[in-house]
Amino acid sequence: MSRPAIAHIRLDAFRHNYRVAKAMHGGKALAVVKANGYGHGAVQCAQAIANEVDGFAVACLEEAVELRQAGISKPILLLEGFFEAAELPEIVANNCWIVLHAQWQIDIFLAAKLAKPLHVWLKMDSGMHRVGLAPASYQQAFNSLAGHANTANIVLMSHFANADNLKSIHTKQQISVFQQAVQTLKFDEVSLANSAAILGWPQSYNHWSRPGIMLYGADPLTANALNQLAKTVVSEHPQSLRAVMQLSSKIISIRNIQKGESIGYGSIFNADKDTIVGVVACGYADGYPRSATGAPVAVDGRITKIIGRVSMDMLFVDLTDITAADIGSDVELWGDQVSANDVANAAGTIAYELFCNVKRVQFSYRDKQ
Ligand SMILES: *Cc1c(COP(=O)(O)O)cnc(C)c1O
Repeated sequence: MSRPAIAHIRLDAFRHNYRVAKAMHGGKALAVVKANGYGHGAVQCAQAIANEVDGFAVACLEEAVELRQAGISKPILLLEGFFEAAELPEIVANNCWIVLHAQWQIDIFLAAKLAKPLHVWLKMDSGMHRVGLAPASYQQAFNSLAGHANTANIVLMSHFANADNLKSIHTKQQISVFQQAVQTLKFDEVSLANSAAILGWPQSYNHWSRPGIMLYGADPLTANALNQLAKTVVSEHPQSLRAVMQLSSKIISIRNIQKGESIGYGSIFNADKDTIVGVVACGYADGYPRSATGAPVAVDGRITKIIGRVSMDMLFVDLTDITAADIGSDVELWGDQVSANDVANAAGTIAYELFCNVKRVQFSYRDKQ
C-alpha cells in the first residue's frame, strides 16, 4: 500500500463553480488559474472548462505557455503582463493578452516592434496601492495606447483590496475613484470583480469578471469571520459553491493516552482525561499547516479536531468520541465535510494559501460529466 495522503480534485465541481460565478456576475468570466490553479493543477482545471470558458488568467508567461502546450486555445491574460521586453515576442507567439500596470511597461510596449497587435488590459490603482496606474495618469496612459499600432483593444481594469469585507467602505470608494477617472474615456470593456466582488458587490459588475478562489469552492466572504452579512448573500444564491479539492488520508496508528500524558513534539497536548489519539499520514510537508492545532477534521464522516503539534509527515486527531474509528479509517483534512476556510482560520491564514501549499501527496482527478 502506498502512502494514503491524496488530494482528490473534482473537476466537475470546478466546472459547476465556474458556471455559478459567471451566472452571478452576468458578464464574461476569466477563470483565474494562476499558481498551478491555486494548487489544484492548472492544466486539468483549464481543460475541464475549455469548451465553455471565456478565457483564463495566469500570473506570467511561463504559466500561459504551460496551458498552450497542453492544447488550451482560449484567450489567456497575463495578470502582471511582462517583466522584461524580451518576453514580448513569445507573448505574441502564444497569443496572450497582457495587463499593463505601470508606466515602464507602457513605455516598453509602445516602443516594441510587435508581429501582431496585443489585447491590453490597462490596470488602474483605484486604492489598493499595489500595482496599477494612478487615477490621475490613467487617461494619458489610455490615450497613448488607444489607436497605437501595437494595441488591438483595451479593457479597463482595477482590483479590490477589501472586497471580502462587506462592512468596509473601501470597495465603494475604489469603484467611485475608478468611475470618475474613466468617465471621459471612450472605452468598450471594463473588468473589476474578483471572487469576493462577484459574491458580495453587484455594484462592481460590468463586462468581465475574474473569479479565482470561488472556482475552487472556497467562499472568500464566509472565510471572513467579521462577515455575518456575507453569509446571507451567499446562502440566498440557489447554487452554492462546491469544494473542488478533498485532501484526505488515513489513520495509521492509534494510541490510548492516559490522563496527564502528552503527545508529539513539544508535548503541547496534555490529556486532561483518558484520550484516544489517532495518528494520520499527513503533515506540514504535504501542505497541512503546522499552526492548525485545534482545526476541525473528519474521521469516517465524523467531525473531531487536530490535537498536539502537526509534524512533517503525521498529525494527531482526537478519536475519544469516535469509538468505531480504526487503523485505515478515512480522514478528511478539508473538502466537503471540513471547510478549508475553517482549517485556514484555525491556522491564521486563508484557504488560498492552504491550496497553494499542497504538495507531495498524490493528486487524483475525477470528472463526472
Ligand atoms: C488573483 C487575482 C484574481 C482572482 O482573485 P480571487 O480572490 O481568487 O477571486 C483576480 N484579479 C487579479 C488581478 C488577481 O491577481
